[in-house]
Amino acid sequence: MPKSNAQRALVVGAGIAGLTSAWWLERAGWDVLVVERAPSFREGGYMIDFFGPGHEVARRMGLLPALEERRAPISSVTSVDASGRRRGEISASAYEAVATGVISLLRGDLASVVRDDLRSPIRYGTTVSSIDDGWVTFSDGSCASFGLVVGADGVHSRVRELVFGSSSVRYLGHHTAAFSFRDPLLSERIGYRYQMLTVPHRMVGCYAVRDGSMAALMLFRSPSAALPADPVATLRSRFGDLGWITPSLLSVVPEDVYYDTVSQVDMPVWHRGKVVLVGDACGAVSLFAGHGASLAMAGASVLAEELSFGFDGAFSRYQARMKPAVEHTQEFGRRFIGWMAPSSEWRISVRDWAFRLSGLPVVRSLIRGSVVPDVEVRQRAS
Ligand SMILES: Cc1cc2nc3c(=O)[nH]c(=O)nc-3n(C[C@H](O)[C@H](O)[C@H](O)COP(=O)(O)OP(=O)(O)OC[C@H]3O[C@@H](n4cnc5c(N)ncnc54)[C@H](O)[C@@H]3O)c2cc1C
Repeated sequence: MPKSNAQRALVVGAGIAGLTSAWWLERAGWDVLVVERAPSFREGGYMIDFFGPGHEVARRMGLLPALEERRAPISSVTSVDASGRRRGEISASAYEAVATGVISLLRGDLASVVRDDLRSPIRYGTTVSSIDDGWVTFSDGSCASFGLVVGADGVHSRVRELVFGSSSVRYLGHHTAAFSFRDPLLSERIGYRYQMLTVPHRMVGCYAVRDGSMAALMLFRSPSAALPADPVATLRSRFGDLGWITPSLLSVVPEDVYYDTVSQVDMPVWHRGKVVLVGDACGAVSLFAGHGASLAMAGASVLAEELSFGFDGAFSRYQARMKPAVEHTQEFGRRFIGWMAPSSEWRISVRDWAFRLSGLPVVRSLIRGSVVPDVEVRQRAS
């Protein structure tokens, strides 16, 4: 029997937050449609460390075995100098000790595991043009009415812009880029180790992924939050003077490289009428905090749980449970900038010494406080 509009949910964005929202909502009886701006599913992407509250949500969804299958066997994080010599290293076992239960995998692999367990349709190449509470006009000109609209369209959310207007984006002073490419020789040389070259305010890192492929990450400080017209040219001019394997990486940057400013989203209220935001759209913590995917999954699950107790007040209860964890992680992320993109040679040396001593329990606990936020999502008030 067709459901009434009140039971129809629109999820905007087929990323981690959107797919997880759709997963929980469809199991709660909602008739869900997902729309995604990209023309097809976004594969690959960058490597993420997945643990904390999202890991627990994935366990409840029964997805941990599939995630484990996609785990990247990263054995260490190594800081190298311009000639590729090791300056400091933190082993995977030391990292595991500070970040319990961590699964390193590609963002696209995490998203695909959720998508593969979803029954709801995903309409690619589609976005929203206008939203009037539950009444939505799509980019193809069609219109429909929904009882619930979930904005899960990431840090530059169109839903947020349409419904809440003013921007709530806090720029953290850096630009980042990530891409993958195939190079079996280089892949063998680098291995399953995250290797990075850091100079003040700039970092370039890479690691082997699988089947002779590599993934690269670049990060640099910039006073401007404006995105460049030509990201590839910008990366070449910003990193062209660096040694190690940087010239090889710069020679294979694809035209469709993932390139963005590093930002957080901070807004006082995450919902209006029938519209609610999840994931980066309302609470991006940034790559410096490294918990965004985990919080996106936790938020999606908490939202569906609160809706199961009735629509009235569900969005406020969801926000009250999630926002403290998001704000705590954002604060942590701002402090972590100094670890990931140190501002001086001296700071880089201190970090690399900490890596070198990471086998010692006392240093390990210091590192734990510096690299892993304690993220706790509030339990439902009984
Ligand atoms: C380099 C890097 C490293 C990171 N490392 C980690 C890590 O180690 N651990 C961790 O937990 N997190 C990490 N993160 C953060 C994490 O990737 C994000 O927080 C997480 O992906 C947020 O999920 P989301 O679904 O809210 O947004 P996204 O994953 O950005 O998904 C949003 C989706 O919406 C789509 N979309 C955008 N606009 C529209 C529109 N107008 N209409 C329709 N669809 C739209 C997008 O195409 C995308 O599919 C990292 C991020 C970066 C950039």
